[in-house]
Parts: sequence; structure tokens; C-alpha cells
Amino acid sequence: LVRLRARLSRSNSVFGKGLLALLSSDKLDEEVWEEIEDTLLTADVGIQDATAIVENLRERVQVLGTRDPAELKRLLREELTAVLDPDMDRSINTTGAEGKPAPVLVVGVNGAGKTTTCGKIARVLVADGNKVVLGAADTFRAAAAEQLSSWGDRVGVPVVRRDEGADPASVAFEAVKEGDEQGADVVLVDTAGRLQNKAGLMDELGKVKRVIEKREPITETLLIIDATTGQNGLRQAEVFSQVTDVSGVVLTKLDGSAKGGIVIAVQRALGVPVKLVGLGEGPDDLAPFEVEGFVDALVD
Ligand code: GDP
Repeated sequence: LVRLRARLSRSNSVFGKGLLALLSSDKLDEEVWEEIEDTLLTADVGIQDATAIVENLRERVQVLGTRDPAELKRLLREELTAVLDPDMDRSINTTGAEGKPAPVLVVGVNGAGKTTTCGKIARVLVADGNKVVLGAADTFRAAAAEQLSSWGDRVGVPVVRRDEGADPASVAFEAVKEGDEQGADVVLVDTAGRLQNKAGLMDELGKVKRVIEKREPITETLLIIDATTGQNGLRQAEVFSQVTDVSGVVLTKLDGSAKGGIVIAVQRALGVPVKLVGLGEGPDDLAPFEVEGFVDALVD
């Protein structure tokens, strides 16, 4: 796993640097505070948190009466840290029942990066000494199973797949069964995310979930969100959290986005932590989300 801070340096610091520059303006008047709020909104921090950050900062700057850049930076760092909630548990739960594999369900809209993220996570789990099975329950696109299989080959992990059009729930069930028979520690189940047919998708995912849980309780449901899709991505995310028990978010494509504020908006909208972030298309481009490293990348 790569360290978040080193990898976020360029694109994301645009937003933090912008805020710092504004805070260091000659006079911190109404107009500047509005610009600070706009900068937060442009970086996809939601309105509620953008307003709260500005109000808190404004009050603290006034109380301290400070214009010292180091002090202002400290205040900004503290406000961003607080709103990101550093106390949330960001570990991935891969502890199944005694002697049984832990099923991890991966959901999200098509193109968000589900299959790629399954491959990257499998790689990390294998490197940590886990036995992993991948389940290709996105049977809508033949290419999805193909893509997951090539990740399986790359990482050295078996992939349970069926023909295009097969019942996703039965593929998921087979994958967990296979994991059990092979003595696997974790079964990662990739799913389809066609939002064009919302009712159909809900039914399908609900069934995938129920069928897996006939064998083993799901230990983690990861919702994959493309960081570049902004508010639209958030609305889609809410659909998934209505049918599955989303326990964590993987925010992908943060490498191509200067809108790091989406982390704050996602956590606010879904009430679950961002646990991992995708920083590129390659197998190494996955990092655990750490609040401190993220805030450092923004403001340092
Ligand atoms: P799925 O439809 O949700 O399974 O999405 P895929 O895993 O097929 O990913 C869609 C595209 O996004 C592919 O071209 C991936 O290589 C790319 N992708 C996935 N994660 C990342 C990431 O973190 N950064 C970048 N830059 N590209 C990514």
C-alpha cells in the first residue's frame, strides 16, 4: 500500500493552498470569507460542512485576533481534521466466523472502479498472508468477468465466474461456497451497477446480499465512488446504501481530482467512513485513508 500523503501532493493541495492564501489576505473581510466558502464548495465539500468550517474558523480567528500564517494554518488544519472525523474506524473487517471465509461485498455504479478496486484489495490481502477468492457477480457485462479474471491471474487468486447473463446471486453464492471449500480467509464479490434500471438493480443487489448471508454474514460492504463525479456520485451512492449495509467507502480516481472535499461530503451523506482511496489504475494505486496524512497533503 502506498502512503496517501506522498501521492496526493499535487492535485489536492490546490484546494488547501487556495484556502491558506485567502486566510492570509491583507484584510479578512466578508468578501474573503465568502471566497473561502466558495473554495470549499468548489472542492466538493458539501454546503453544511463548508458553512460550519467557515463559521468556526471565523470565530476562532476573531477570538485569537491573529494574522500569523502559521497560526492560521494550524486553525485550518484543526477544522478540516475535525470535520473528517479522525475517530471513525477505517479498518476493513475481514474477520469471518471461526474457520469460515469473510464475505466482502463490493458495490457501486458502473465505471466507478469496482473491478479494479477488487483486484487491488485482493493484492493487498494476499500480501498480508490471506487466502482470497474473487467472485465475478457482475454477469451483465462479459467484459467485467474477463477483467476480474485477469486481476485474479495477476494477483494469483482464483476467480469464480459464470457466463454472461447468469444469475448474479448464484455466482455470489458459489464464490462463498468455493471460498469455504478452499479454506479461504476472504471472498471478495464484485457486482454490477447499472443505474438505468434502478428497481432491477435494487432487487438484484438485495438478492445477492441475502444469498451470501444464507452461508456467511457479510463482514464488509464497500461502496465504490468515483471522486470526479461530485454531487452526482453522491446521489448514486445513496441508492446503494438503501439496499446494502454500506460499511465503508472506497473513493477512486482521487489522483485525477482537485476536489478532495468530496471525502467530507461522502462521509456526511452516508454516515460511514472513507476507508480506502484509489490513486491510479495500477495494482499499487490504493491507499488507506488517513485523516492526518490527507489534511497534511492539503495544507502543507
Ligand atoms: P467498474 O465498472 O466499477 O468495475 O469500473 P472499472 O474497475 O472497470 O474501472 C473503470 C475505469 O476506471 C478503468 O479504466 C479503471 O482503470 C479506472 N480506474 C479505477 N480506479 C481508478 C483510480 O483510482 N484512478 C484512476 N485514474 N483510474 C481508475
